[in-house]
Amino acid sequence: MTGPAMTRHSAVSEGSIRRIASPANPAVKAVRALHQKKNRSATGLFLAEGLRILTEAVDQGHAPQTLVLLPDMREAPMGARLAAATLAAGGEVIEVSEAVLAKIARKDNPQGAVGAFPQVWWNLEDLDARAAFCWVVLEAPRDPGNVGTVLRTADAVGAAGVILLDSACDPYSLEGVRASMGSVFGQRLVRTTFDAFAAWRARQGGQLVGTSLNATADYQGVAYSRPTFLFMGNEQSGLPAAYERACDTLVRLPMRGRADSLNLAVATSVMLYEIYNQDRRAWPG
Ligand code: SAM
Repeated sequence: MTGPAMTRHSAVSEGSIRRIASPANPAVKAVRALHQKKNRSATGLFLAEGLRILTEAVDQGHAPQTLVLLPDMREAPMGARLAAATLAAGGEVIEVSEAVLAKIARKDNPQGAVGAFPQVWWNLEDLDARAAFCWVVLEAPRDPGNVGTVLRTADAVGAAGVILLDSACDPYSLEGVRASMGSVFGQRLVRTTFDAFAAWRARQGGQLVGTSLNATADYQGVAYSRPTFLFMGNEQSGLPAAYERACDTLVRLPMRGRADSLNLAVATSVMLYEIYNQDRRAWPG
């Protein structure tokens, strides 16, 4: 293969790559340690895996602090681009065997590359609620896969970000990052308490729309206005009653069958599409 994409040899010099053969090497162990929440919290780093997600990260201006990749990945244009971006940002590129990468990714056929990235958390006080037509607010979500899926849908519809309240799971776990398919790099992520969120929202304005099995209003019978804060409950216990009372509107997704509720990420997606559809009718183009 020839052409402008094959610029690997000029982009990354051999000498800038570190080769590690042992899974017990401290640098490899430090990357593997990021599977544990306590190590993510201590370092402020997280893992993302696979060329597609890593490329998405670099496209959005996030370079890995450490990039671990297979030798043949560095030969490929995307791998070379990732390595060049990592080095340009002052990071380290490590080349390992498939067996070592499988240990790092904790799966048998790892997707060629893993990156350790700095986590990004936003402060509410630095945010303008009008940055987009909609925000998602999740009360103490337990499942990082749900949060990752919510990030992906929020990104798809052009929401501004996801605000995690109270004792939420870590969206930067590998499961959450995988489920987000790279949207974790583009969405604003906030960790706060309900009281701090409510105080900020009171200053910013906007419509707080809670979703609940206790609601009587059908979700398609409500007019959503900019910015809408879509408030979703915990997987087991839903929204606390006091939080439901704080909402401007409480809506229900009708269910005809025997299921007693929808999965959190599915319910969020249905709601986001209704809010998005109303918004694009009101603001075409
Ligand atoms: N047992 C929980 C309860 O009583 O709310 C079920 C929680 S449900 C798995 C997780 C969240 O998804 C809910 O708190 C709510 O935000 C949303 N949700 C799920 N199904 C819904 C529905 N039919 N109508 C409105 N919200 C729903």
